[in-house]
Amino acid sequence: MKPFCVIGSPISHSLSPRMQGAAFKEKGVEASYEAVEVLPENLKEFMAGFADTYSGMNVTIPHKENVMRYLDEVDDRARTIGAVNTVVNEGGRLVGYNTDWIGFTEALLEGAEEKNGAFLVNKPVLVVGAGGAARAVCYALKQLGAELYITNRTLEKAEQLAGEFQGHALALTKLNKIQPLLVVNVTSLGMHPHEGESPLPQEIWQSWKHAQVQQFAFDCVYTQRTTQFLKDALIGGFKSSPHGHSLMLVTGENMLIHQGAVAFELFTGQKAPIEAMRSAIVGS
Ligand code: NAP
Repeated sequence: MKPFCVIGSPISHSLSPRMQGAAFKEKGVEASYEAVEVLPENLKEFMAGFADTYSGMNVTIPHKENVMRYLDEVDDRARTIGAVNTVVNEGGRLVGYNTDWIGFTEALLEGAEEKNGAFLVNKPVLVVGAGGAARAVCYALKQLGAELYITNRTLEKAEQLAGEFQGHALALTKLNKIQPLLVVNVTSLGMHPHEGESPLPQEIWQSWKHAQVQQFAFDCVYTQRTTQFLKDALIGGFKSSPHGHSLMLVTGENMLIHQGAVAFELFTGQKAPIEAMRSAIVGS
């Protein structure tokens, strides 16, 4: 029986044990998967015993950046992103990967007509947030060739990210200067204890609405299916379009499933059973 885990703090809300457990069962893999609460001050001690205990793990808030210092190797993409969310124990060598960026890309393109993402090339996209997950989202959007705008409560962090990913930082008060094709919420607003909150003022959606072009709103929050961010996007889209709804909404649940699927493949070398993973968390 191969033991896997997800670490973070807090961790009790994590859907990964249910999702990865279902995937192991579906594929007949002899493995266990548990959630482990690791406080920041205990990360060093936890990692000291990790290689002897676990075959791999997922990593979530607040450890995605700090865990890198305890690994033998970090793959190039994760290093560019600056965050690791998957660690594989390869015969005692701990190797770090980032699967959030692929999860984001696959969830975004799943709902789009052009599956290669060509519709985003040189088009303005707005990332709201500048934390660890925002780094993976910015990396993914640059890979797709988008023109990147980043806004954040703490503007200096948006400026730092914009510098690293060749984007533009934009203050929350200047958002009407652009007309984004895609807007991504990658803040904690929408998650407990901030259910019902959006990082954006509701009126902004109306000013962004394009009459002809299909626009996208993507919320990385996965604990709520209908977040305030997505509700506001939908209302904004309905109000201004003479042709009805032309706004595509993507939930964080899809990103969670796809990032977990890539992690499963890294853990087992087998193709992930996406539908079993989806069924395990839908409605939770
Ligand atoms: P993080 O590193 O802690 O960053 C949090 C971000 O939220 C920062 O930009 C922060 O702004 C902003 N924020 C926090 N509280 C705020 C408030 N009260 N008002 C305005 N902005 C606030 O977290 P993370 O790892 O990047 O995660 C961000 C979100 O992505 C979370 O909701 C997480 O669940 C989600 N996520 C989803 C998936 C998925 O698979 N669906 C994967 C990874 C992450 P400041 O810089 O000003 O503090």
